[in-house]
Amino acid sequence: MATPENKLAFEGGWEYSPAPESTDHIKVAKKYELFIGGDFVKPQSGKYFDTINPATEGRLSRVALANDADVDKAVKAARKAYGGPWSRMKPADRGKYIYRIARIIQERAREFAAIESLDGGKPIREARDVDVPLAAAHFFYYAGWADKLEYAFPGRSAKPMGVAGQIIPWNFPLLMAAWKVAPALACGNTVVLKPAETTPLTALKLAEVIADAGLPDGVVNIVTGAGDTGASIVSHPGVDKIAFTGSTEVGRIIQKALAGSRKKYTLELGGKAANIIFADAAIDQAVEGIVNGIFFNQGHVCCAGSRLFVQESVVEEVIRKLRDRMETLIVGDPLDKNTDIGAINSKAQLEKIESYLDIGREEGGDMYQSSCAVPEKGYWCRPTIFTGVSQSNRVVQEEIFGPVLAIQTFRTFEEAISKANNTPYGLSGGVWTDKGAKIFRMTQSVRAGVVWANTFNKFDPTSPFGGYKESGVGREGGLHGLDAYLRLEA
Ligand code: NAP
Ligand code: MG
Repeated sequence: MATPENKLAFEGGWEYSPAPESTDHIKVAKKYELFIGGDFVKPQSGKYFDTINPATEGRLSRVALANDADVDKAVKAARKAYGGPWSRMKPADRGKYIYRIARIIQERAREFAAIESLDGGKPIREARDVDVPLAAAHFFYYAGWADKLEYAFPGRSAKPMGVAGQIIPWNFPLLMAAWKVAPALACGNTVVLKPAETTPLTALKLAEVIADAGLPDGVVNIVTGAGDTGASIVSHPGVDKIAFTGSTEVGRIIQKALAGSRKKYTLELGGKAANIIFADAAIDQAVEGIVNGIFFNQGHVCCAGSRLFVQESVVEEVIRKLRDRMETLIVGDPLDKNTDIGAINSKAQLEKIESYLDIGREEGGDMYQSSCAVPEKGYWCRPTIFTGVSQSNRVVQEEIFGPVLAIQTFRTFEEAISKANNTPYGLSGGVWTDKGAKIFRMTQSVRAGVVWANTFNKFDPTSPFGGYKESGVGREGGLHGLDAYLRLEA
């Protein structure tokens, strides 16, 4: 909110003093190998790729590139562990290992947060308050289920699927790894995980945690690389289940590759969530929620509230307050605790976002960006809104995956619903109103896996998450997240 004090800040009156998180306590090796069969092993290709800090464009480390032969080795290690110690272990003991992983992540939380911020560009505040605690919470939650599967699915026998191949994106690297690894292990599966090329470091740190926790060799294997490494996991005949989080485009490729095979799969894909503000909403609170919904993590969020629908009578007030609030947002050094918006994850992603800014203007939209300074080096995008756009515009229809919000208006409830549902996606949505009845009607009418009311971007390991339509297949989190890793028999 533009209070007199922070208004001064953006008028140049004063600025926050830098409050950088120290990196003295973290260890990033010069080079990382693949984690296969409980050991860190060299890639058979002999090749390594750079992972950079998108805030400085400097190299953080070199990471092994896994080819088909490495993936084959990882799948075989996972198969051996599945047929051996992991399936012979009592479920309660499996749970103990998963608890141990959760506790080590908590102990090393500061290190994980700083590395997540360095490798991916996200503000340290988010990495510290969201990514890392939620990752630990997922391991804690699923650890508790390991010996209670018969209560989760009464009257049915729950058997693991076998070897799970898991492929994750760059926006929440550790958290997405936790979403995938924790339920897979709790259900008795073994894992081959591939993090994204631009953010492999926290997954490799997780490999260290898994080694420290003493899991039997091969229960979790982590192979780094780009899309080809992911494709190699998908097509490997020794994999029983694929869990993928990423773009709808790659999701489609995977679905085609798996068609007709015996492999089970879950796909968590893109989104274009609608946030809907009714005139009776608490407007200041709603504006704060909109800001959180789209500018959080640079808009690199599948469930980002990237479309905003405002009831006509309050649109001027909402846009005025939103612009005021945008002016107070600090874009810059992700390691600074004052930073609201960090670096865009990669040069390619920045170019994609910038191309959408051009498209939006060419389509006739009015673009407004905050006036804050951004650092010279690194990849940055100021918080951006488009007004004067229509349903058919590409900035309204397509996932931009950046801090870019398209704003439209509506008059009636029905109009809000039909506009909100006019999208190929259906991952999430938000509604802002003073009236409980409107909330219930809205949550039943918006075709999305999650609908938040008078809040946004809230996550909990106990609640399922996943999409309708082109946003995916299956659910992760909660009991549903167990189901995705089990063969349930009568
Ligand atoms: P992406 O390009 O689809 O990549 C996702 C992962 O798949 C990466 O590890 C990627 O490797 C790998 N990959 C690329 N091509 C592949 C192929 N042909 N076969 C197998 N794996 C392949 O997505 P992204 O750009 O990283 O992430 C952004 C997308 O993720 C957005 O669309 C966002 O909405 C979605 N997302 C969805 C959820 C959800 O829960 N629904 C959560 C977070 C993100 P490399 O990156 O190393 O090339
Ligand atoms: Mg990186």
